[in-house]
Amino acid sequence: MQLTDLYREVILDHNKHPRNFGRLDPHDGEAKGHNPLCGDQLTITLRREGDRIGDLRFEGNGCAISMASASMMTEAVKGKDRATATDLATRIHALLTQDGASSEGLGKLAALSGVREFPARVKCASLCWHTLNAALAQSDAAAPTVSTE
Ligand code: ZN
Repeated sequence: MQLTDLYREVILDHNKHPRNFGRLDPHDGEAKGHNPLCGDQLTITLRREGDRIGDLRFEGNGCAISMASASMMTEAVKGKDRATATDLATRIHALLTQDGASSEGLGKLAALSGVREFPARVKCASLCWHTLNAALAQSDAAAPTVSTE
């Protein structure tokens, strides 16, 4: 009960005060996400620093869960390398869909486990992660080739 209240608080806070909101220019990757079930729309722009996500922003509109999830996602993956971001996306998907999935080490993102009780809202919460993957894929073409000697 108290845990649920805590999760609710985190989500409401991020919805009211979204972090990294806006548009990043110039950027290396951009992707739009749309969840027609709820009407959530968001655009992610990101800049790569080699394999890392140097900076990223999101903009759009939608329900509290979609916006809060995107806000927390940007905080969680900024400065991280690509493999870490992809791994985090996989863990969040498990957290949203599997009972008993571990939220250890996920920090505030653990609040998303509360969404599991509302299956209709899982797509709201996962939208930003799918969009991030698409933006990363797009940035691959723009990222400089790293040569290993
Ligand atoms: Zn939604």
